[in-house]
This record gives sequence, C-alpha cells and structure tokens, in this order.
Amino acid sequence: MARRLLRWYQRSHRKLPWREHPTPYSVWVSEVMLQQTRVDTVVDKYIEFLRRFPTLETLAAATTEDVVTAWSGLGYYRRARSLHAGARAVLEHHGGEFPRDLDSALDLPGVGPYTAGAVLSIAYNQPTPAIDGNVERVVTRLLRLGEDPRKADVARKVRTTVAEWIPRKDASSFNQALMELGATVCQPRSPRCNVCPISENCLAKQEGDAESFPRKPRAQKILPVTLHAVAVQRGQKLLLQRVDEGSFLRGLWLFPFDVSAEAVQDHLEEATSARCSLAPLGTVRHAITFRRITLHTYRGTPSVRIPTKLPDGLGWFRREDFGRTVAVSSLALKVAKLLEHSPVEKS
Ligand code: SF4
Repeated sequence: MARRLLRWYQRSHRKLPWREHPTPYSVWVSEVMLQQTRVDTVVDKYIEFLRRFPTLETLAAATTEDVVTAWSGLGYYRRARSLHAGARAVLEHHGGEFPRDLDSALDLPGVGPYTAGAVLSIAYNQPTPAIDGNVERVVTRLLRLGEDPRKADVARKVRTTVAEWIPRKDASSFNQALMELGATVCQPRSPRCNVCPISENCLAKQEGDAESFPRKPRAQKILPVTLHAVAVQRGQKLLLQRVDEGSFLRGLWLFPFDVSAEAVQDHLEEATSARCSLAPLGTVRHAITFRRITLHTYRGTPSVRIPTKLPDGLGWFRREDFGRTVAVSSLALKVAKLLEHSPVEKS
C-alpha cells in the first residue's frame, strides 16, 4: 500500500510553494497557516509571510503586532500569536533549530501532535504520524472505523496504525501523500475511489459506504451574531476601532461597530464629539468558528470634523495599509470593498 501511495504522490501531487525547499521553519509556518484555512487562501499569504519573515530569527525578532498584521486575511489569529511565541521559544531554548524530538516539539507554544508530526516527518524525515482531518478521514475509511475518531482511544488507534504504516526511508513523502490523498481524492463528499491508488486496501470502498466515515458526533451549534458598523471616510483615510481584549476579534482593527447603529453613533460621539448621520451601505456576512456574523454597515457623515488625533483604540488608516501595516479583520476588508463599490455622492 505504501509503495502504491508513494508512486501516486510523486506523479500527482499539487505544486505548492511550501513543498519546494522544505525547512523545519517553512513547514511549521505552512502547517499552522493550513489549519482551518483553505490552500488557495494560504498560497499568497505564505509567500508574503516568508518574504517578510524569511527565517525563524526574523519572526522571533518581530513585534506581535507585525506578525498579526502579516496574518491578516487568514483568520484565527491565535495561531499567529502562538507561532510567534513558538519561534521565540525555539530561539531561546533550542538554539534556533526546531527540536528533533517529539516531546520538546510538543512543549512549544501552539504546537500539538499534528504540527509536531508534520514538521518532524516532512522536514526531518522522522517516522512520526501527522494526523489532520484529511488523514483521519482516509484512515477511518480504509479501516471502516465505526467510532468517533475524536475520542481519545479511537484517535490513538488511528495514530498507531499510521505509525505502523510509515516507511522508515520515506516518512516525509508518505505523510504528505496521505494528506494529499485526503485533500484531493478521498474527499468528504463523493470520494473518487475509482482513481484512488489504494482502493484495494479500503474496507469502506468494498462496502460502498465511504461517505459515512469518519463517524462524527453532532456539530457544535451555530451562533448567529448581528452587528452594526459605521464607515467614516476622510480623504484617503478610514476610521477604524481596535477590538477590545476578550472579544472574538480581539486586537484587530475593524470599522467602529456595536450591537446597534445607535450604539455606534453614541460611542463615536463620546470619543470624537461628532455625531454621525447614517446612510445604509449594505450587509456583510462572515463566519468565525461557530459564529455566523451578519454585519449591517452604514456610511457615516460626521456633524463636525473628526480630529486627526483620536483617543486610544480609534485611528485613521489608509485602505492600502489594511493587512500590510495594520492588522484588520477580514470583515474590515469586506466592508472596505462595499465602500469602493459605493462612492460618495456629490451634492
Ligand atoms: Fe478514500 Fe475511496 Fe480511496 Fe477508500 S478507496 S481511501 S474511500 S478514496
């Protein structure tokens, strides 16, 4: 099975930038980015990120604000903060080299069994399993595992099975091949069993019920969130508000928002002494983990000129700096797009 899988991988894998010259650092960055984010979204951000922080040392030396800014558009910013803290820990405790043993790797901030396994196997060719959602799906189908793989004992079984399969000489390609098979062939819906290189080893294929694996408990309840945001423009600059600690977008910049349009008007008036009249701009929808956000947006025209100097937590920023020098939420990018398509009417 391993031979067939490896042959298929050499022939068919997608050309992706992090596969070109994998180093422990580049594999680490790419694997963290790829958690919960689509490959298409990651490609450009990965290239940009490595241009900005080409080595672990440059990442460790950067400020958290710089790292979070470079992460703009990828979402799940906790990953950026952990990666940054991890880079600093590697520099401080491991002489700048990602540790080669699993326990030390797992001690790093934000590094769990998957990331550790991916870096150790892909960069160091060590036979350590790296079980992401794709691999989990392939394995549960191959074995027709009838239990929830998120349960500890089932997860252990998946892990031990993969550890037994990994060929000692080519752990790097084998782990990547399993991931690639899950991403491109053994997909959640309509797996392409007819082109699968290991279909003859697959129990679910034989039974014709591949789609019912992996078995999963009921999904977490979706939480709808409705917010209102006001976009105030002055020349080339836009007024943004930093999201408070404790909120799900903490630390990022977004157009001033609150639970109602009036609440935003009040808040802005208190901070700037200007009351904004509002004209509807449009509605933006966005999903963050289990939250489904509906953001009603308005163009705000202040009653008096809002000063350049603003209280902490508010600031004027140029649109082209979003995601470059200012860490904005993807929501802010969506609202900025609305603004671009709805230019101010001249009276
Ligand atoms: Fe997945 Fe089908 Fe291949 Fe089995 S045969 S591993 S279900 S693609």
